[in-house]
Amino acid sequence: MERTLSIIKPDATKRSITGKINAMIEEAGLSIIAQKRLILSVVQAEEFYGVHKERPFFRDLVNFITSGPVVVQVLEAENAIALYRKTMGATNPKEADKGTIRYEHAESIEANSVHGSDSSDNAKIEIDFFFTDEEIVG
Ligand code: GDP
Repeated sequence: MERTLSIIKPDATKRSITGKINAMIEEAGLSIIAQKRLILSVVQAEEFYGVHKERPFFRDLVNFITSGPVVVQVLEAENAIALYRKTMGATNPKEADKGTIRYEHAESIEANSVHGSDSSDNAKIEIDFFFTDEEIVG
């Protein structure tokens, strides 16, 4: 079994579609084994997205992700990282396959409703960023 970190982003919590997104996650075969709702501070967001700090959209991204509540989750499945990336769809919803979360729900390339870890090293770092071992109940 593999674990990945999911974030339901502020555009989605504002529209009250966390339930719809979680239904798609569970229908894809991913188990939600940890979950919390929080508002990221600017300092936390800058650290979480540190890999993007040289990108032109970095400040916009930090402003967006701190603009409202997020729901952070640990998902578990066989090949959870790749499975969740497939379930989310492409970063730009205009390029996302039909039936994916971003095709169905994202508003724009920035306000794209969900985050999912992109590698096993990053999944571990990102899960540890938000959760203690005791908070993860598989
Ligand atoms: P992901 O792994 O599919 O989430 O995509 P990336 O790691 O490339 O980008 C991280 C996040 O930055 C994306 O999910 C978007 O919220 C945001 N983002 C990516 N590309 C752009 C862009 O060109 N403009 C803006 N404003 N935001 C972007």
